[in-house]
Amino acid sequence: MAANNFDFGVIGAGIVGLAMANRLRELHPSASIAVFDKETSVGKHASGRNSGVLHAGFYYSPDSLKAALTRDGNKLLRDFCSEAGVRVNETGKVVVAQNPSEVAALQELHRRGNANGVVTELVSADRLAELEPLAKTSELALWSPNTAVANPLEVTKALANKVLREGSVLKLGHKVLHVSENRIITNIGNFSIGHIVNCAGLYADKIAKPFGYCDDYVMLPFKGLYWYGNWEPGRLQRHVYPVPDPRNPFLGVHLTVTIDGRAKIGPTAIPIFSRESYSGIGGLSVKEILNIVGIYPKFLSSRHHDVFGLIKSELPKYLQRHLITQAKALVPSVDPKDFKERGEPGIRAQLLDIKNKKLEMDFVVRGDETSTHLLNAVSPAWTSALAMANHVCKKFE
Ligand SMILES: Cc1cc2nc3c(=O)[nH]c(=O)nc-3n(C[C@H](O)[C@H](O)[C@H](O)COP(=O)(O)OP(=O)(O)OC[C@H]3O[C@@H](n4cnc5c(N)ncnc54)[C@H](O)[C@@H]3O)c2cc1C
Repeated sequence: MAANNFDFGVIGAGIVGLAMANRLRELHPSASIAVFDKETSVGKHASGRNSGVLHAGFYYSPDSLKAALTRDGNKLLRDFCSEAGVRVNETGKVVVAQNPSEVAALQELHRRGNANGVVTELVSADRLAELEPLAKTSELALWSPNTAVANPLEVTKALANKVLREGSVLKLGHKVLHVSENRIITNIGNFSIGHIVNCAGLYADKIAKPFGYCDDYVMLPFKGLYWYGNWEPGRLQRHVYPVPDPRNPFLGVHLTVTIDGRAKIGPTAIPIFSRESYSGIGGLSVKEILNIVGIYPKFLSSRHHDVFGLIKSELPKYLQRHLITQAKALVPSVDPKDFKERGEPGIRAQLLDIKNKKLEMDFVVRGDETSTHLLNAVSPAWTSALAMANHVCKKFE
């Protein structure tokens, strides 16, 4: 096979692209597989900039891809970490009610857990005090023993090493400029590809467009900010989450425990206007800003989401004190002066269904015999990636 010819060309060396390359290798031991990424190392975007929570899979509607792929992905990712020698911290997680009116939502999450084959338990406030003495709830809480945490970049790098070891090629520093059937053109070269697999995260809609697979969607970026606490490791033992707003695909500001036992607050879901603007003016693109600003007037009139409410509640979270104070409702001992260390922000690649003015809640997979597109690989796609790759690659078996 010539150096610029590959049976499979995967765009994106985040966890999803690497999981796809890994599964394609399992199915086709002698195929030539290349993974292209514009960055010079793997996991530079969402896959290396997230909370690292291995979600259990109880949030999602039982008929969604997220439900089954998160439940299965949690197990596959644990198995992978164990084989690769990557640490997993078995924190478990509690979801707490901030007032009696939220108890029904906890019961619904418990029902969903049962329907999805995911273990959860409704526990009393006394039992919560044993599980996580720092958390506060109203009447009941939900306990998820299978939620855990790992270092997301460490996991992504370990998967990249496996992909390389098993004979695939990583084409780093290759920004894909044009794609068409059987062809990828990057800033460095021109490649002939048997099947193109689009796992481009924040730019997956752009890569899918020439194939006609994303005319009904546009990507909206939402920024996730974090603050670390100065508490001694182990003071907070479990992830503590609020009851989510079912109208939004985000879970609300929460506290997580890191792989090293540190307490961390976030992430936010602040609407932003440029896909990779992590801080200051870095990553700002005028073209993207104009494009996204143009979309918001339509999105504001959505009957599916309270967009004004979302903006009004998220924007003040740029202020550290405001964000930390929100976490106090879950863990009363949180004090803004203890959470002054900024974490690396991450940006969610969230698809908006243009016609219906609706944020897409589930993973979206489209394609045919020449290309496959993994769109809306939002949270918990880091947890689900290996199961998602198994699911998507059924067509190559
Ligand atoms: C703040 C935050 C917190 C989260 N927390 C969790 C969590 O706790 N648990 C969980 O399961 N999930 C979580 N998620 C979701 C999770 O991070 C993502 O679902 C997952 O990382 C998506 O992986 P990906 O490979 O699709 O995207 P990415 O990691 O973004 O990878 C896409 C890659 O494509 C490359 N690319 C894009 N365009 C081009 C181009 N033109 N040419 C070449 N390369 C290109 C990019 O450089 C990038 O490396 C979180 C996400 C965020 C933002």
